[in-house]
Amino acid sequence: MAGNKSDIEIAQEAHLKPIVDVAADLGLEATSLEPYGRYKAKINVDALASRPRAGKLVLVSAITPTPAGEGKTTTSVGLADALRRLKKRAVLALREPSLGPVFGIKGGAAGGGYAQVVPMEDINLHFTGDFHAIGAANNLLAAIIDNHIKQGNELHIDPRRITWRRAVDMNDRQLRHIVSGLGGVAHGVVREDGFDITVASEVMAAFCLSADLADLKARLGRMVIGSTYEGAPVTAHDLSAEGAMTALLKDAIKPNLVQTLEGTPALMHGGPFANIAHGCNSIIATDCALKLGEYAVTEAGFGADLGAEKFCDIACRAAGFTPSVCVLVATVRALKMHGGVAKDALAQEDVEAVVAGLPNLERHIANMSDVFGLPVVVAINAFPTDTAKELDAVKAACSNLGVSVALSEVWARGGAGGEDLAREVIRLAEEDQAELTYCYDTELDIRTKLQQIVQKIYGARDVELTPSATRQLAQIEERGFGNLPLCMAKTQYSFSDNARLLGAPSDFTVTVRELKVAAGAGFVVALTGAIMTMPGLPKHPAAERIDVLPDGRIVGLF
Ligand code: ADP
Ligand code: MG
Repeated sequence: MAGNKSDIEIAQEAHLKPIVDVAADLGLEATSLEPYGRYKAKINVDALASRPRAGKLVLVSAITPTPAGEGKTTTSVGLADALRRLKKRAVLALREPSLGPVFGIKGGAAGGGYAQVVPMEDINLHFTGDFHAIGAANNLLAAIIDNHIKQGNELHIDPRRITWRRAVDMNDRQLRHIVSGLGGVAHGVVREDGFDITVASEVMAAFCLSADLADLKARLGRMVIGSTYEGAPVTAHDLSAEGAMTALLKDAIKPNLVQTLEGTPALMHGGPFANIAHGCNSIIATDCALKLGEYAVTEAGFGADLGAEKFCDIACRAAGFTPSVCVLVATVRALKMHGGVAKDALAQEDVEAVVAGLPNLERHIANMSDVFGLPVVVAINAFPTDTAKELDAVKAACSNLGVSVALSEVWARGGAGGEDLAREVIRLAEEDQAELTYCYDTELDIRTKLQQIVQKIYGARDVELTPSATRQLAQIEERGFGNLPLCMAKTQYSFSDNARLLGAPSDFTVTVRELKVAAGAGFVVALTGAIMTMPGLPKHPAAERIDVLPDGRIVGLF
């Protein structure tokens, strides 16, 4: 609610430019645009292949969030609008929302208040169908695997060692562990099976890390689906699956163009979650934004320990990106939570709790500046419940640390509320001080890489592997995948692998319970703590409040 209006009410009142006009503003040729209706389009990026990446990259991340989110998307959108107001050609590169959170607890992912991307309902629901295409490609491979076994199993695939799971873009815990192939000889081979949410699938990750369609096909072919009875890995290529999977993704791979409430171009493309996957929009979309804009503003999911770490260590390494500035979004609410206030009391003034929560922000600042070498500006995302004393406490702490800070009021005021932040971003970008360094060298062995992440970024004492993770580690290194970067799967609510350890915990160990190679995505996934790759719905999901009126208008999306 900005004023007395909900996000969807503000979005529905917006006057949208035809998408061909948004594209024309970007200097895109009509032949590069494939409109999906009047306000959405896909971009054919072939014509941009030889253009330089002339824009400056702004990475928006955040402190450790509350379950509602701290406003990274909102801040990214408002910052891009503010940059435009200051006559800088800004282009957004964001993730597409997943239906899981839309119907679950967190809601949509197209920003909020007066800093939103529109058409909001389309973007939050089926958009241009990319996630359905990615789910279909994932499930085509699953069907091919089971059919291969049923038809005589020439490859000797051991049904007990299939690691490929089915996927659906929904929070549906019922499907986490299932038995499939029931019904007798004519109906398949019985085996233990399960679903992940599409945004956690390797197809999503490979899609987002691909340079182009040919690279995507090669990545899909490399994906390991399980082992033979003899213990050898079996790939999608062994099953001749990658061609048909790529056919399903041929249009999805083109980035989607939409606009903010203020008409700023936004590329929304791909959407891996940042807790269970790598958490950044597609490399193709970011590349496109860097070629089309003076400033490309992109968001990495959840806190900077997850999304920003993986943006730098996985996406930047794969694509050769270097952010010029990192914007760290902080809220008084989240700081109070880290300072010990219960979630239902965050609206009351409590300066002491804000101060007690600051070590969380400080660790994220140190990580982005000292580990990754990026200039940092803290964006305080102002909420209606914040008091002047609370806001001053955050500003004073940043000044004491010598870190740039700006109050952002984009949620209440749109781009006009983000001009201070935009000026600070421009100043830091023009100083050109960023020198991206990675948290670890990929050539190190897996255990050392894990140690470097948990010690340097999380502040942990050490990492521990369960016996099964230890066996998996040995197998992954034996098979020659030891030199890949790591994709940490960890709770977003803590620096540690325990969601209840708030603030800036120390003297803890992180437990890795499973290691899995994603050879197509090009990383090794390390699952820590109790993190799950298929979420469930809360007791009262957002879905209960979503409806369609007789005139076709959607209500209750937020
Ligand atoms: P993130 O990208 O960090 O997950 P979002 O930008 O999606 O966060 O915001 C999460 C939710 O919080 C949205 O529903 C948004 O409308 C709301 N929100 C964001 N900023 C503010 C603010 N300053 N005041 C009130 N609500 C806000
Ligand atoms: Mg977001």
